[in-house]
Amino acid sequence: MKAIILVIDGLADRPVKALNYKTPLEASDRNNLNALAKKGITGILDPISPGIRAGSDTSHLAILGYDPFKVYTGRGPFEASGMGIEITGGDVAFRCNFATVDNNLIVKDRRAGRIENTEELEKAITEQVKLEVDYEFKSLKYRAALVLKGKGLSCEVSDIDPHESGVKVKKPEALKKEAEKTAEILWDFSIKAHRVLKEYPINKDRKLPANFLLARGAGITPELRSFKEKYNLNAACIATTAIIKGITKLAGFDIIEAEADYSARISQAIDALNTRDIVLINIKEADEAGHDNKPEEKIRVIEKLDRSMDRLLEFVIENYLVVLPDHSTPCGVGEHTGDTVPVLIAGPEVRSDSVERFDERSTTLGGLGRIRAKHIMPIILDLINKSHKFGA
Ligand SMILES: [Zn+2]
Repeated sequence: MKAIILVIDGLADRPVKALNYKTPLEASDRNNLNALAKKGITGILDPISPGIRAGSDTSHLAILGYDPFKVYTGRGPFEASGMGIEITGGDVAFRCNFATVDNNLIVKDRRAGRIENTEELEKAITEQVKLEVDYEFKSLKYRAALVLKGKGLSCEVSDIDPHESGVKVKKPEALKKEAEKTAEILWDFSIKAHRVLKEYPINKDRKLPANFLLARGAGITPELRSFKEKYNLNAACIATTAIIKGITKLAGFDIIEAEADYSARISQAIDALNTRDIVLINIKEADEAGHDNKPEEKIRVIEKLDRSMDRLLEFVIENYLVVLPDHSTPCGVGEHTGDTVPVLIAGPEVRSDSVERFDERSTTLGGLGRIRAKHIMPIILDLINKSHKFGA
Protein backbone atom coordinates (compact mmCIF):
# COMPACT_ATOMS: atom_id res chain seq x y z
CA MET A 1 0.00 0.00 0.00
CA LYS A 2 1.39 3.37 -1.04
CA ALA A 3 0.62 6.98 -0.25
CA ILE A 4 0.75 10.38 -1.93
CA ILE A 5 0.65 13.65 -0.01
CA LEU A 6 -0.49 16.39 -2.38
CA VAL A 7 0.27 19.79 -0.91
CA ILE A 8 -1.48 22.61 -2.73
CA ASP A 9 0.65 25.48 -1.44
CA GLY A 10 -1.29 28.43 0.00
CA LEU A 11 -4.57 27.14 -1.45
CA ALA A 12 -6.83 27.99 1.48
CA ASP A 13 -8.37 31.46 1.45
CA ARG A 14 -10.95 33.72 3.05
CA PRO A 15 -14.30 34.79 1.53
CA VAL A 16 -13.66 37.21 -1.36
CA LYS A 17 -16.15 40.03 -1.96
CA ALA A 18 -15.62 39.93 -5.74
CA LEU A 19 -16.49 36.21 -5.66
CA ASN A 20 -19.74 36.88 -3.85
CA TYR A 21 -18.09 36.03 -0.55
CA LYS A 22 -16.97 32.63 -1.70
CA THR A 23 -13.35 31.56 -1.37
CA PRO A 24 -11.51 30.84 -4.66
CA LEU A 25 -11.73 27.13 -3.83
CA GLU A 26 -15.50 27.37 -3.23
CA ALA A 27 -15.90 29.34 -6.46
CA SER A 28 -13.95 26.87 -8.60
CA ASP A 29 -15.08 23.91 -10.72
CA ARG A 30 -13.42 21.02 -8.97
CA ASN A 31 -15.12 17.74 -9.85
CA ASN A 32 -12.16 15.56 -8.97
CA LEU A 33 -11.42 17.20 -5.63
CA ASN A 34 -15.10 16.94 -4.74
CA ALA A 35 -15.25 13.29 -5.84
CA LEU A 36 -12.25 12.56 -3.61
CA ALA A 37 -13.88 14.40 -0.69
CA LYS A 38 -17.01 12.32 -1.22
CA LYS A 39 -15.05 9.06 -1.24
CA GLY A 40 -12.77 10.07 1.60
CA ILE A 41 -12.74 11.54 5.05
CA THR A 42 -12.28 15.28 5.47
CA GLY A 43 -11.61 17.84 8.13
CA ILE A 44 -9.87 21.09 8.88
CA LEU A 45 -6.27 21.43 9.93
CA ASP A 46 -4.09 23.91 11.79
CA PRO A 47 -0.62 23.83 10.21
CA ILE A 48 1.00 24.56 13.59
CA SER A 49 -1.72 25.53 16.08
CA PRO A 50 -4.79 27.80 15.95
CA GLY A 51 -4.01 31.29 14.68
CA ILE A 52 -0.31 30.67 14.08
CA ARG A 53 0.85 31.87 10.64
CA ALA A 54 3.02 29.13 9.23
CA GLY A 55 5.67 29.46 6.56
CA SER A 56 5.82 26.79 3.87
CA ASP A 57 8.97 25.51 5.54
CA THR A 58 7.64 25.11 9.10
CA SER A 59 4.37 23.70 7.81
CA HIS A 60 6.03 21.09 5.58
CA LEU A 61 8.27 20.06 8.48
CA ALA A 62 5.15 19.56 10.62
CA ILE A 63 3.34 17.64 7.87
CA LEU A 64 6.33 15.30 7.64
CA GLY A 65 6.33 14.76 11.38
CA TYR A 66 9.29 16.94 12.43
CA ASP A 67 8.77 19.45 15.23
CA PRO A 68 9.53 22.85 13.69
CA PHE A 69 10.05 24.32 17.15
CA LYS A 70 12.97 21.93 17.58
CA VAL A 71 14.51 21.73 14.11
CA TYR A 72 13.84 25.12 12.56
CA THR A 73 16.19 28.04 13.16
CA GLY A 74 15.89 29.79 9.81
CA ARG A 75 15.15 29.23 6.16
CA GLY A 76 18.79 29.28 5.04
CA PRO A 77 19.70 25.58 5.38
CA PHE A 78 16.62 24.33 3.51
CA GLU A 79 17.10 26.82 0.70
CA ALA A 80 20.80 25.90 0.44
CA SER A 81 20.03 22.18 0.43
CA GLY A 82 17.38 22.71 -2.25
CA MET A 83 19.91 24.58 -4.38
CA GLY A 84 22.09 21.49 -4.36
CA ILE A 85 24.65 22.38 -1.68
CA GLU A 86 25.58 19.34 0.39
CA ILE A 87 25.12 20.50 3.95
CA THR A 88 25.53 18.68 7.21
CA GLY A 89 24.45 19.25 10.79
CA GLY A 90 26.05 22.36 12.28
CA ASP A 91 26.67 24.21 9.00
CA VAL A 92 25.29 27.76 9.07
CA ALA A 93 23.39 28.74 5.95
CA PHE A 94 21.95 31.99 4.59
CA ARG A 95 19.64 32.86 1.74
CA CYS A 96 20.98 35.67 -0.42
CA ASN A 97 19.76 37.94 -3.18
CA PHE A 98 21.96 39.51 -5.81
CA ALA A 99 21.15 43.20 -5.34
CA THR A 100 22.16 46.59 -6.68
CA VAL A 101 23.77 49.06 -4.28
CA ASP A 102 25.35 52.49 -4.87
CA ASN A 103 28.80 53.62 -3.66
CA ASN A 104 27.44 54.26 -0.18
CA LEU A 105 25.94 50.75 -0.01
CA ILE A 106 22.42 52.12 -0.31
CA VAL A 107 20.16 49.44 -1.82
CA LYS A 108 18.82 50.51 -5.22
CA ASP A 109 17.17 47.23 -6.20
CA ARG A 110 16.89 44.20 -3.91
CA ARG A 111 16.92 41.80 -6.88
CA ALA A 112 19.37 43.53 -9.25
CA GLY A 113 16.62 43.84 -11.87
CA ARG A 114 15.83 40.13 -11.39
CA ILE A 115 19.10 39.21 -13.09
CA GLU A 116 18.74 35.90 -14.93
CA ASN A 117 22.25 34.64 -15.51
CA THR A 118 24.41 34.63 -12.40
CA GLU A 119 26.56 31.58 -13.15
CA GLU A 120 29.64 33.61 -14.07
CA LEU A 121 29.24 35.81 -11.02
CA GLU A 122 28.93 32.75 -8.81
CA LYS A 123 32.11 31.34 -10.30
CA ALA A 124 34.02 34.60 -9.86
CA ILE A 125 33.04 34.76 -6.21
CA THR A 126 33.94 31.18 -5.37
CA GLU A 127 37.30 31.57 -7.13
CA GLN A 128 38.31 34.90 -5.67
CA VAL A 129 36.74 35.22 -2.24
CA LYS A 130 38.76 33.51 0.48
CA LEU A 131 37.49 33.29 4.06
CA GLU A 132 38.92 31.97 7.31
CA VAL A 133 36.44 29.07 7.16
CA ASP A 134 35.33 26.82 4.30
CA TYR A 135 32.19 27.90 2.54
CA GLU A 136 29.97 27.02 -0.40
CA PHE A 137 28.08 29.47 -2.51
CA LYS A 138 25.50 28.70 -5.21
CA SER A 139 23.11 30.82 -7.18
CA LEU A 140 19.97 30.40 -9.22
CA LYS A 141 19.05 33.57 -11.11
CA TYR A 142 18.97 36.42 -8.58
CA ARG A 143 18.68 34.05 -5.63
CA ALA A 144 21.63 32.42 -3.93
CA ALA A 145 22.66 30.51 -0.86
CA LEU A 146 25.77 30.75 1.28
CA VAL A 147 26.86 27.99 3.63
CA LEU A 148 29.63 28.53 6.19
CA LYS A 149 31.30 25.34 7.37
CA GLY A 150 33.45 24.78 10.40
CA LYS A 151 33.54 24.76 14.16
CA GLY A 152 32.28 27.51 16.43
CA LEU A 153 29.75 28.98 14.02
CA SER A 154 26.36 30.26 15.12
CA CYS A 155 23.14 31.23 13.35
CA GLU A 156 22.39 34.02 15.83
CA VAL A 157 23.31 36.78 13.39
CA SER A 158 21.07 39.50 12.02
CA ASP A 159 20.23 39.95 8.33
CA ILE A 160 22.38 42.05 6.00
CA ASP A 161 19.30 42.51 3.86
CA PRO A 162 17.44 45.64 5.01
CA HIS A 163 14.33 44.20 3.29
CA GLU A 164 13.64 47.50 1.49
CA SER A 165 15.22 49.77 -1.10
CA GLY A 166 16.57 53.26 -0.40
CA VAL A 167 18.35 52.29 2.80
CA LYS A 168 21.85 51.12 3.54
CA VAL A 169 22.73 47.43 3.77
CA LYS A 170 23.02 46.35 7.39
CA LYS A 171 26.26 45.18 8.87
CA PRO A 172 25.37 41.86 10.51
CA GLU A 173 25.19 41.86 14.28
CA ALA A 174 25.81 39.00 16.67
CA LEU A 175 22.52 38.42 18.47
CA LYS A 176 24.39 36.34 21.02
CA LYS A 177 28.00 36.53 22.15
CA GLU A 178 28.92 33.20 20.55
CA ALA A 179 27.90 34.54 17.12
CA GLU A 180 30.51 37.31 16.93
CA LYS A 181 32.87 35.27 14.79
CA THR A 182 30.08 34.28 12.37
CA ALA A 183 28.92 37.90 12.04
CA GLU A 184 32.49 38.96 11.20
CA ILE A 185 32.97 36.18 8.64
CA LEU A 186 29.62 36.99 7.00
CA TRP A 187 30.54 40.66 6.66
CA ASP A 188 34.00 39.74 5.36
CA PHE A 189 32.31 37.59 2.69
CA SER A 190 29.89 40.36 1.75
CA ILE A 191 32.57 43.03 1.34
CA LYS A 192 34.92 40.74 -0.59
CA ALA A 193 32.09 39.56 -2.84
CA HIS A 194 31.08 43.19 -3.40
CA ARG A 195 34.62 44.01 -4.59
CA VAL A 196 34.60 41.10 -7.02
CA LEU A 197 31.09 41.83 -8.28
CA LYS A 198 31.44 45.54 -8.87
CA GLU A 199 34.48 45.04 -11.11
CA TYR A 200 32.98 42.14 -13.04
CA PRO A 201 32.60 42.91 -16.77
CA ILE A 202 28.93 41.93 -17.24
CA ASN A 203 28.02 44.21 -14.36
CA LYS A 204 29.60 47.21 -16.07
CA ASP A 205 27.00 47.00 -18.85
CA ARG A 206 24.03 46.56 -16.56
CA LYS A 207 21.77 49.43 -15.55
CA LEU A 208 21.14 47.55 -12.33
CA PRO A 209 24.46 45.78 -11.67
CA ALA A 210 24.34 42.71 -9.43
CA ASN A 211 27.00 44.13 -7.15
CA PHE A 212 26.02 43.04 -3.65
CA LEU A 213 24.73 39.92 -1.93
CA LEU A 214 22.02 40.55 0.63
CA ALA A 215 22.13 37.69 3.14
CA ARG A 216 19.24 36.80 5.42
CA GLY A 217 17.49 33.91 7.14
CA ALA A 218 20.54 32.52 8.96
CA GLY A 219 19.88 29.00 10.14
CA ILE A 220 21.85 26.14 11.56
CA THR A 221 21.45 22.89 9.65
CA PRO A 222 19.32 20.47 11.67
CA GLU A 223 20.07 16.77 11.70
CA LEU A 224 16.72 15.39 10.58
CA ARG A 225 16.24 11.67 11.12
CA SER A 226 15.58 10.34 7.65
CA PHE A 227 12.15 9.05 6.65
CA LYS A 228 13.65 5.61 6.26
CA GLU A 229 15.00 5.63 9.79
CA LYS A 230 12.00 7.38 11.35
CA TYR A 231 9.17 5.51 9.62
CA ASN A 232 10.88 2.80 7.53
CA LEU A 233 9.50 4.45 4.39
CA ASN A 234 11.26 5.13 1.11
CA ALA A 235 10.18 8.58 0.03
CA ALA A 236 10.43 10.94 -2.92
CA CYS A 237 9.51 14.58 -3.48
CA ILE A 238 8.26 16.32 -6.60
CA ALA A 239 8.43 20.09 -6.14
CA THR A 240 9.58 23.18 -7.97
CA THR A 241 10.77 25.37 -5.12
CA ALA A 242 14.21 25.09 -3.54
CA ILE A 243 12.86 25.29 -0.01
CA ILE A 244 10.59 22.23 -0.35
CA LYS A 245 13.26 20.27 -2.19
CA GLY A 246 15.71 21.25 0.55
CA ILE A 247 13.50 20.15 3.45
CA THR A 248 12.67 16.80 1.89
CA LYS A 249 16.26 16.23 0.80
CA LEU A 250 17.44 16.75 4.38
CA ALA A 251 14.76 14.21 5.40
CA GLY A 252 16.30 11.68 3.03
CA PHE A 253 13.79 11.93 0.18
CA ASP A 254 14.81 11.34 -3.42
CA ILE A 255 14.25 14.55 -5.34
CA ILE A 256 12.51 14.08 -8.68
CA GLU A 257 12.77 16.94 -11.17
CA ALA A 258 9.16 18.11 -11.53
CA GLU A 259 7.49 18.25 -14.94
CA ALA A 260 5.76 21.56 -15.62
CA ASP A 261 2.44 19.95 -16.48
CA TYR A 262 0.36 18.92 -13.44
CA SER A 263 -0.95 15.65 -14.87
CA ALA A 264 2.61 14.71 -15.86
CA ARG A 265 3.66 15.46 -12.30
CA ILE A 266 0.94 13.17 -10.91
CA SER A 267 2.07 10.43 -13.29
CA GLN A 268 5.65 11.00 -12.10
CA ALA A 269 4.47 10.44 -8.53
CA ILE A 270 2.57 7.26 -9.38
CA ASP A 271 5.58 5.93 -11.29
CA ALA A 272 7.92 6.82 -8.44
CA LEU A 273 5.81 4.69 -6.12
CA ASN A 274 6.90 1.56 -8.00
CA THR A 275 10.08 1.69 -5.96
CA ARG A 276 9.00 3.87 -3.01
CA ASP A 277 6.33 3.98 -0.32
CA ILE A 278 5.37 7.63 -0.25
CA VAL A 279 5.63 10.68 -2.49
CA LEU A 280 5.08 14.31 -1.60
CA ILE A 281 3.96 16.60 -4.41
CA ASN A 282 3.98 20.37 -3.91
CA ILE A 283 2.01 22.64 -6.24
CA LYS A 284 3.32 26.16 -5.70
CA GLU A 285 1.20 28.33 -7.99
CA ALA A 286 -1.86 28.70 -5.73
CA ASP A 287 0.33 30.39 -3.11
CA GLU A 288 1.76 32.78 -5.69
CA ALA A 289 -1.76 33.81 -6.75
CA GLY A 290 -2.54 34.49 -3.09
CA HIS A 291 0.58 36.63 -2.64
CA ASP A 292 -0.29 38.52 -5.82
CA ASN A 293 -3.87 39.24 -4.60
CA LYS A 294 -5.34 37.42 -7.64
CA PRO A 295 -8.41 35.29 -6.73
CA GLU A 296 -9.23 34.64 -10.41
CA GLU A 297 -5.72 33.33 -10.96
CA LYS A 298 -6.06 31.09 -7.91
CA ILE A 299 -9.29 29.67 -9.35
CA ARG A 300 -7.50 29.04 -12.65
CA VAL A 301 -4.72 27.12 -10.87
CA ILE A 302 -7.25 25.04 -8.88
CA GLU A 303 -9.27 24.17 -11.99
CA LYS A 304 -6.16 23.28 -13.97
CA LEU A 305 -4.95 21.03 -11.17
CA ASP A 306 -8.39 19.48 -10.69
CA ARG A 307 -8.58 18.55 -14.38
CA SER A 308 -5.18 16.85 -14.01
CA MET A 309 -6.26 14.61 -11.14
CA ASP A 310 -8.12 11.83 -13.01
CA ARG A 311 -5.45 9.25 -12.29
CA LEU A 312 -5.70 9.90 -8.56
CA LEU A 313 -9.31 8.68 -8.48
CA GLU A 314 -8.07 5.35 -9.73
CA PHE A 315 -5.04 5.51 -7.42
CA VAL A 316 -7.18 5.69 -4.26
CA ILE A 317 -8.90 2.36 -5.02
CA GLU A 318 -5.83 0.62 -3.63
CA ASN A 319 -3.70 3.36 -2.10
CA TYR A 320 -3.97 6.44 0.07
CA LEU A 321 -4.02 10.09 -0.92
CA VAL A 322 -3.86 13.09 1.37
CA VAL A 323 -4.72 16.51 -0.09
CA LEU A 324 -4.10 19.66 1.88
CA PRO A 325 -2.67 23.15 1.61
CA ASP A 326 0.35 23.87 3.82
CA HIS A 327 -1.28 27.11 5.01
CA SER A 328 -3.75 29.78 3.89
CA THR A 329 -2.60 32.60 1.60
CA PRO A 330 -5.76 34.72 1.29
CA CYS A 331 -5.82 36.89 -1.83
CA GLY A 332 -7.23 39.78 0.22
CA VAL A 333 -4.22 39.67 2.54
CA GLY A 334 -1.42 38.72 0.14
CA GLU A 335 0.40 36.85 2.89
CA HIS A 336 0.10 33.65 4.90
CA THR A 337 -2.49 33.74 7.65
CA GLY A 338 -3.24 31.52 10.65
CA ASP A 339 -6.61 30.27 9.33
CA THR A 340 -7.30 26.55 9.23
CA VAL A 341 -6.99 24.67 5.92
CA PRO A 342 -9.21 21.91 4.48
CA VAL A 343 -7.80 18.39 4.40
CA LEU A 344 -9.00 15.18 2.78
CA ILE A 345 -7.79 11.61 2.98
CA ALA A 346 -9.02 9.04 0.48
CA GLY A 347 -8.18 5.37 0.21
CA PRO A 348 -9.56 1.84 0.40
CA GLU A 349 -10.21 1.59 4.13
CA VAL A 350 -10.99 5.19 4.99
CA ARG A 351 -14.21 5.68 6.95
CA SER A 352 -15.84 8.18 4.64
CA ASP A 353 -17.98 10.98 6.03
CA SER A 354 -20.94 12.92 4.64
CA VAL A 355 -18.87 15.79 3.18
CA GLU A 356 -19.17 15.95 -0.60
CA ARG A 357 -17.12 19.04 -1.36
CA PHE A 358 -13.51 19.97 -0.84
CA ASP A 359 -13.34 23.53 0.45
CA GLU A 360 -12.64 25.52 3.58
CA ARG A 361 -16.20 25.49 4.95
CA SER A 362 -17.67 22.16 3.77
CA THR A 363 -14.83 20.25 5.42
CA THR A 364 -15.62 21.74 8.83
CA LEU A 365 -18.28 18.99 9.03
CA GLY A 366 -15.84 16.20 8.20
CA GLY A 367 -14.99 13.11 10.17
CA LEU A 368 -11.40 14.14 10.90
CA GLY A 369 -12.64 17.10 12.89
CA ARG A 370 -9.94 19.66 13.55
CA ILE A 371 -6.43 18.24 13.47
CA ARG A 372 -2.89 19.61 13.15
CA ALA A 373 -0.27 19.05 10.47
CA LYS A 374 1.73 16.92 12.92
CA HIS A 375 -1.11 14.38 12.93
CA ILE A 376 -0.86 13.65 9.20
CA MET A 377 2.04 11.16 9.31
CA PRO A 378 0.63 9.14 12.26
CA ILE A 379 -2.71 8.89 10.41
CA ILE A 380 -1.02 7.77 7.17
CA LEU A 381 1.17 5.23 8.98
CA ASP A 382 -1.91 3.83 10.71
CA LEU A 383 -3.89 3.56 7.46
CA ILE A 384 -1.09 1.74 5.67
CA ASN A 385 -0.65 -0.49 8.73
CA LYS A 386 2.88 0.61 9.46
CA SER A 387 2.43 2.29 12.83
CA HIS A 388 3.68 0.93 16.14
CA LYS A 389 1.24 0.02 18.86
CA PHE A 390 1.28 2.20 21.97
CA GLY A 391 0.97 -0.23 24.84
CA ALA A 392 0.34 -3.98 24.92
ZN1 LIG B 1 3.76 31.81 0.43
